[in-house]
Amino acid sequence: MEFRAYKTLRNDIDTLSNKLEEQHKNHMMCKAGCDLCCMDYSIFPVEFYSIVEALKKGEKKPVINSNNDESSCIFLNNHKCEIYEERPIICRTHGLPLLFMNEENGWELSACELNFTEFDMEEFSEENTFPQDKFNSKLFLLNKEFIAKSKLTEYSEFDLIPIKEIAKHI
Ligand code: SF4
Repeated sequence: MEFRAYKTLRNDIDTLSNKLEEQHKNHMMCKAGCDLCCMDYSIFPVEFYSIVEALKKGEKKPVINSNNDESSCIFLNNHKCEIYEERPIICRTHGLPLLFMNEENGWELSACELNFTEFDMEEFSEENTFPQDKFNSKLFLLNKEFIAKSKLTEYSEFDLIPIKEIAKHI
């Protein structure tokens, strides 16, 4: 299967996330060992199958943590991500100030509760936040194309797959 466009989007997101992390380094408490954001997310098929393919090709198989509770991610082991290099997009923006439009068409900002405790919220702008809707729209369209091209007829363009299902495919 072809995942080039997805990986390009992922790289673009990493580039922006790294820039924002650097910009906000004095207000972000994110560090190795903190796993508050690691939950059993659900992801689009294009991400799901890209991760499955990469993990199948990889030399080191991730250890599945079957001791985690239902809501935690199965790839979280000893506070570390077993699939860090291949982790989904949602995991690549953890902790950043995310700007998105809510159901009432108003702009909303979301960030980890441990971060920005001494930051003036008025100082958030388009220049120092992650535009979540923009990237989500790109991912949605990529996924739609992927489903059509791959003839994965079991999925509609709105279907998501829980990360934990990856364990059945690797
Ligand atoms: S894939 Fe990795 S970063 Fe994402 S929720 Fe699971 S353990 Fe955390």
